Amino acid sequence: MTLTSRILLAMVAGILLGSVLNLATSASFMPEALEGFIDTWLVGGLFDVVGRIFVASLKMLVVPLVFVSLVCGSSQLGNNARMGRIALRTIGLYLFTTGIAVTVALTIALTVNPGMGVELPGEANFVAKQAPSIADVIVGIVPSNPIAAMANGNMLQVIVFALLIGFAITRAGEAGTRICRFFQDFEVLIMKMVAMLMLIAPYGVFALLTKLFAQLGFGAIVDLAKYFLTVFGILVFHGLVIYSALLKAFVGLPPSVLLYKMRSVWAFAFSTSSSAATMPITLRAVERRLGVKPSVAGFTIPLGATVNMDGTAIMQGVATVFIAQVYGVDLSMGDLAAVVLTATMASIGAAGVPGVGLITLALVLEQVGLPVEGIAMIIGVDRLLDMVRTAVNVTGDATVSLIVAELEGQVDKSVFGDWHADVMTAENYSTDGDPERPTFLEQIEEAEADDEPLRPPRRAAGDG
Ligand code: ASP
Repeated sequence: MTLTSRILLAMVAGILLGSVLNLATSASFMPEALEGFIDTWLVGGLFDVVGRIFVASLKMLVVPLVFVSLVCGSSQLGNNARMGRIALRTIGLYLFTTGIAVTVALTIALTVNPGMGVELPGEANFVAKQAPSIADVIVGIVPSNPIAAMANGNMLQVIVFALLIGFAITRAGEAGTRICRFFQDFEVLIMKMVAMLMLIAPYGVFALLTKLFAQLGFGAIVDLAKYFLTVFGILVFHGLVIYSALLKAFVGLPPSVLLYKMRSVWAFAFSTSSSAATMPITLRAVERRLGVKPSVAGFTIPLGATVNMDGTAIMQGVATVFIAQVYGVDLSMGDLAAVVLTATMASIGAAGVPGVGLITLALVLEQVGLPVEGIAMIIGVDRLLDMVRTAVNVTGDATVSLIVAELEGQVDKSVFGDWHADVMTAENYSTDGDPERPTFLEQIEEAEADDEPLRPPRRAAGDG
């Protein structure tokens, strides 16, 4: 069985087992001791620990991967005009797709009216965290301390720093070439770590989803069925139809290839609910399965994982209409335009971590004068929607990456057209060495055989 099939199977098994545990622990006939065992030792113990280790291992790779792939990628783009064009196209497309997402969401929500007939809860208590202002978001892009940016996982700042180094490399002659070679080797290494991580992915995905579904309150879904189904339906529509249409319209590439090759990435996005944690997997799939050259993917994917959140914007559009309807507030055309603008901007400032969409929703609601406490009404179903919208978010990143790369002639068609490219077989993802690269030991043996010292000879005193 390929690794993709194993991951997808683990996903289904996790959802099923989690739902069974959820039903079992809430059943009246369940002995208290057994319920305690399931809650404490299984859900809160084993599955929690395995799941958290899995997410932590994914996150561990994010900063090094973004950094090394961007430094090399941006330096390989060659001239600055090209780099500028790619950056502009990428950012433009990210904003464009998010704008479309929230506009579609508002249009459908205003037709379906998910909040009509919903009773205003007696007390709604949601304390909004302070969302960052737009000015802070813009100033915050420049890292005053790049090491702190890496330590805190501030992706936008890491991206800016890496781009600047990449740019400097192109102007630094020999020294630049040497540094770039080092980073290229480093990238091979980190990608190997991504492959190693994939091997434990089925267990991680299984543990995460079992825990999540064991703890989900399904009752909330019944109460909020109309809201839930509206968001869910638009997410699926955007993920499958809109992206396909954009890919076809902009560059004429077949969407079926994109959707087919993104399956395993969806499993990661769905189970971690974090586009940032899924980033290493998205990058690997976009480069090695879809054939986007690292020079473009290394820029578009880390940037997208941070600034492009179409799924989140969709939820925010529907949630705004829902809350307005429950509170009996009419939204004017101006309000709707403000929602489109704020939701698009908010997605730039938010990091791709679980539940962040709800925090920035406060920003959108405030913009149109709606009560932020309204968020309390939709919290119950947000965890489940978060999984789906994260999958949409990463699909958006891959779509834009593919479009920009194709516009620049940076898609390797032999990889794109090969359904089995980098398919997750034990061979591709083995932890054995890369057959094409001699290992460190082999290099030493080779050097010894050639009688060549590995290190450069020491300079004689006074020599240069
Ligand atoms: N969890 C989403 C992501 O990481 C963000 C959100 O909508 O909360 O892409």
